[in-house]
Amino acid sequence: MSASQPETVPCQYRTGETLGSGPYAIVKVAIHIKTGQYYACKIINKKLIEGGEYMVRDEIAVLKQISSGHPNIVTLYDYFETAQNLYLCFDLCTGGELFDTIWDRGQYTEADAADLVRTILEAVKYIHDCGIVHRNLKPENLLFRSDPERTSEIMIADFGMSRVMPDSKFSMFTEMCGAPSYMAPEILKKTGYGKPVDVWAMGVITYFLLAGDPPFDGDSQKQEIEAIIAGDYRFEPEEYWNNVSDTARSFVSSCLTVNPDIRPTAAEALQHPWLTAEVPHCVEKD
Ligand code: ADP
Ligand code: MG
Repeated sequence: MSASQPETVPCQYRTGETLGSGPYAIVKVAIHIKTGQYYACKIINKKLIEGGEYMVRDEIAVLKQISSGHPNIVTLYDYFETAQNLYLCFDLCTGGELFDTIWDRGQYTEADAADLVRTILEAVKYIHDCGIVHRNLKPENLLFRSDPERTSEIMIADFGMSRVMPDSKFSMFTEMCGAPSYMAPEILKKTGYGKPVDVWAMGVITYFLLAGDPPFDGDSQKQEIEAIIAGDYRFEPEEYWNNVSDTARSFVSSCLTVNPDIRPTAAEALQHPWLTAEVPHCVEKD
């Protein structure tokens, strides 16, 4: 790993190459000077999030609660701040984003997709069991620990939008958040939402893995939103789907159930035959 132009992060780290960036944060390789250990350091500019510091505090609170609790969730190792920035140090995932792996591969085989989805869903179930909703599951936030070919190494990252669900059965969120393409209908309809939004996102991700393209699109964002609210998607084009079994399609359809009250929970989705089959399903050929 090249550490071109290293700069000194206050305290104990030296930063290196940039791993990724978003509107408020830049993520860089960070080397712990004393131990030589590598981390991924998310550097958040306080000026850019003015008034939104509570979101980072929520991210830290959530990570403190769940970090180290599951092998497929990134661990927060350290946290500190200066007058300008907030710094969050995670275990370094060197295998890149699932997003890039899908683009490189075109589409996943059904067996690999099922392995990957099962692993991610088990981590989602763990998060939900802890009373947390992630709210921003998408292939850009799913990282491979070291090798993009090893499905068991997939890690859920970016808890920047995640929240602790209040205990009350009736409490729900209404704010719009996440990436539009992965947003569940109930987020867009502003009718109140909770954990089922993560299962919807898993449906979108599974579709994307199997087809190499997302399920909802349109000429405009308005059309895309209308399609999501109506649950209007098709297993098309034919040539992308003709090698995909009915069981896999049924799994996608169950996660993309428009009504969140009857959408399966993460635990229920894990019991779907597509994920429990020992031998992966495949399309019968004549
Ligand atoms: P944002 O809120 O800006 O989306 P993320 O936490 O998703 O912040 O990080 C942005 C990008 O940085 C990720 O999509 C990924 O490419 C990279 N990244 C984040 N965390 C890590 C990590 N632990 N290891 C390697 N790369 C990471
Ligand atoms: Mg992100």
